[in-house]
Amino acid sequence: MNENDIAFMRRAIELAQSGVDNDQGGPFGCVVVKDGRIVGEGYNQVTSTNDPTAHAEIVAIRDACRRLKSFQLTDCTVYTSCEPCPMCLGAIYWARPAAIYFAQPEFVVVHRADVDGYVMNRVVSALFDWYALSRKTK
Ligand SMILES: [Zn+2]
Repeated sequence: MNENDIAFMRRAIELAQSGVDNDQGGPFGCVVVKDGRIVGEGYNQVTSTNDPTAHAEIVAIRDACRRLKSFQLTDCTVYTSCEPCPMCLGAIYWARPAAIYFAQPEFVVVHRADVDGYVMNRVVSALFDWYALSRKTK
C-alpha cells in the first residue's frame, strides 16, 4: 500500500462520514480510481433514497461507469471503507476492476487474478452464514 492508496482510502472514509453527517444512509464510502485519479465516488444512500441497492460501492461503480462511458471498470481500482456485502461483490465481479481495497474489518487488497475466487468464496460464505442464522432463529 503506497501513499496514493492511503489517500484514496481516506477519500472513501471521508465520503462515508459525509454521508452520515448529511443523513444519507449508513457509514460507508467508496471511490473508483483509474490512472491515478478518482473516476467515481459514492456513499451509502439507502435510507435517503429508499433504495436498498444504494450501497456506496454500487453508487461509485455507477458513477464511474457513467463517467467512463463503459460497463466495465477494466484497469480501475475500487477503494471501499468496509468489506463489500454479497450484492456489492456481485457488482464488483461484473464490473471487473483490477483490484479491490477495503479498510474494515481488516485492511485487505484483492488483485484481479484473485477477484473472482475471492468474490465466490465470500458470497458462498455469506450464504452459509445467513442459512445458519435463519436455522438458529426458527
Ligand atoms: Zn453492499
